[in-house]
This record gives sequence, structure tokens and C-alpha cells, in this order.
Amino acid sequence: MTVLDVPTPGSPAHLAPVEQTPPKVGPNAIIQTRTALDELAGAGARRAIFGAAGLESLADTDPDAMVDAGIVNALNRQIAARLDAQTADAVMKRAGELTGDYILANRIPKAAQWLLKHLPSDVAQRVLLAAIARNAWTFAGNAHVERGPDFIAIHDNPICLGRNGFSSCIWHAAVFRRLFQTLVDPAITIHETECAGRDGRMCRFEIVRV
Ligand SMILES: [Zn+2]
Repeated sequence: MTVLDVPTPGSPAHLAPVEQTPPKVGPNAIIQTRTALDELAGAGARRAIFGAAGLESLADTDPDAMVDAGIVNALNRQIAARLDAQTADAVMKRAGELTGDYILANRIPKAAQWLLKHLPSDVAQRVLLAAIARNAWTFAGNAHVERGPDFIAIHDNPICLGRNGFSSCIWHAAVFRRLFQTLVDPAITIHETECAGRDGRMCRFEIVRV
């Protein structure tokens, strides 16, 4: 536990052993996607998509704990099926940006943010990468998350739908992009260069300066 880690109810310490539970991720993968759908597709489309995914109970109510990755995938599958490709991608990107904003507002203490912004950017990048890896359960469930100086890789990403011709990993890239641009360097962008859903061995996100 470091200054960048805020304990959250429902973290893995409170869950049953990995092999006994399906993968779970943080509720923002539902909550912020709903907001993004309202912004970009409208409330009617949002209700239809939640209904088609079998998630009527979450169409207007926030989940208050970790959610099964299968629920997130059901929602994302309907976003891909019911919206044109450009809008579906835009919804995932916006949902990731909103999730990044939520993390900045609620999960990273202001003192730590101040420190990161004042460190040399290569040092801040290392510190933020380490913090992301430690908190990977929130966005990658039980998956193994690997990091290097300029990449994050999720092995067996539980919320990757690339095999269905739709990259829900746009959401991950947008979350990381928001955090790195805000805390490390506005010139950073994040690209998914390899996706387990598109014949890759993992979902690999490269950190590049533009
Ligand atoms: Zn991927």
C-alpha cells in the first residue's frame, strides 16, 4: 500500500479465492459507459442496449460493488451490435475518459497527484505505471498485468471482445490515456498495439509521446 492506493470495499482481500469466482472488475465499466451512451447515443438507445443485454436493473441504477466481467461483456456486445462502428468506438472511448476522471477525482489522493505533476516525467511515468499495476484488479479482474518502462500488457483480459470484431479495449486505452496525460505529460498518448481479441497473445498498450 502506498500513497497512491486507496482501499476500496470489495477489493480482492474481501473476495473468495480466484478459482472459485468469475472475474470481476470495478463498477465504472458499467456506470461510466451508461453516461457515455446518454451523451453520444441518447437515453432511449441506452435503455434499449441495457435491456438487450439483460441488464434492465442496471439501466438507471449504479452497481455499488465489483461486477462480473460477463456483465460488462454483455453490455459491450450490445453496444457493438446496436450502434454503428464509429459511435460504438466513441462510446467506449468516452466511457474510458470518464472512468479516468472518476479515478482522478476519487481514487488518487490530491497530494500524490501534485507530486506526480512535479516529478520529472520519466520518474512520474514509472510511479504511475507501478500504481496502475498494483490496482489492476479494478480494470482487469484476476488477469496477470505486466508492465515495462513504456507499456502495460493485460494477459487474458476478461473484458476484451476483439474476437467479436469490436475492440472494447478502446476503453482501457482511454482510461490510461487520461491518467498519463493528466499526471505525467499532456503529450503522451496510448495505443493498443496488440490485442488478444485480434490474434494477439495479450492486450498490450504502448505509451508514446506525440
Ligand atoms: Zn485488447
